[in-house]
Amino acid sequence: MKITAVEPIHLRVPQVLEIPDGTLDVLIIRIHTDEGLVGVGEVTSQSYVCKACFEAPRSAARRHGLNTILIGENPSDPEALWEKMYYETNRYGRRGAAIHAISGADIALWDLKGQIEGKPIYELFGGPHRTSVRAYASVLFGDTPDETAKLAHQFVDLGLTAAKFGWGPFGQDPNTDVAHVAIAREVLGNERDLMVDAGHAWDCATAIERAKLLKPFNIGWLEEPLSQDDRKGYGELCKQAAVPIAAGEGDVTHWDFEDLIDRGVHVVQPDVAFCGGLTVCRRVSDMTEAKGLRAVPHCFSTGINLTASLHWMASVPNGDLVEYCLRDSPLMRKLVKNLPPLVDGRAQVPSGPGLGIELDEDIIAEFRVQ
Ligand code: MG
Repeated sequence: MKITAVEPIHLRVPQVLEIPDGTLDVLIIRIHTDEGLVGVGEVTSQSYVCKACFEAPRSAARRHGLNTILIGENPSDPEALWEKMYYETNRYGRRGAAIHAISGADIALWDLKGQIEGKPIYELFGGPHRTSVRAYASVLFGDTPDETAKLAHQFVDLGLTAAKFGWGPFGQDPNTDVAHVAIAREVLGNERDLMVDAGHAWDCATAIERAKLLKPFNIGWLEEPLSQDDRKGYGELCKQAAVPIAAGEGDVTHWDFEDLIDRGVHVVQPDVAFCGGLTVCRRVSDMTEAKGLRAVPHCFSTGINLTASLHWMASVPNGDLVEYCLRDSPLMRKLVKNLPPLVDGRAQVPSGPGLGIELDEDIIAEFRVQ
């Protein structure tokens, strides 16, 4: 079998707001073969730039576009093709847009491999350890503690057993922070998990102090309290923090995650459509499993990202948690016809070959950037 075409398709809703919301503008990838099988993937990044990473023509060594690298290859070994894509882009790649683009190709290649072998991806990865994954919803803190309380009530009503609040007014002063977290904990009750995303708000010394203040609210983790580039800071913080620390949604390749793990980060959060794909995610969870730590997917774009994350988590022994996006963008809610539903707070993992999803061609036609 040979890859005959690679199709990067840019989808964008008419009004893309300048908020941290990955459901408004995405790049989906279709990889076609000479036997009629088509694999699907997604890139959650700067879609125009990542599309160019696919379409750029052949150049001198190690500076090719991904289409040139993949067309003509046998799709049956995604890991070998990951190495080829990574190496053959390394003059302009390694980190940034090129590795984001590789993520989409890698997901599509695993989807293809599953279709070739007639197995869901979690089975290719040695699973399943579960057929549904506990979902946590994430949302911005309300402008006031009352608004935060309303949001928490919505999650309880949806039957969710875990929720994460972040950004918004959080991080500016200790009293406001405690007021928001206290009301969220009160509404969620002690039987549900509560996580907090600090949105890069502090330096290390402030984060150590704030973590002490949040300890009484039994938070599951404190996410990205520091700049994504303050690696030394994370090392210091993780030695002293009163609560578990999470980070990594901006990191790529297993080497970045190895560094976070070495610095003591308790929960790492690769985004499969950004970090280098399922090949990278699997390497990361092999490392966290070996160290008794956790990898929990960052996932806030379309049902392709969600489904890939679910297959990954279904194959990881301590992987029973996934971020579940509740935004109402059609690219999140409608692009995947059989979007994994929430049942009793758990997202159901599709059991068909590959990703086990079908895309809605009308949605692709409606939102495609020409
Ligand atoms: Mg975050």
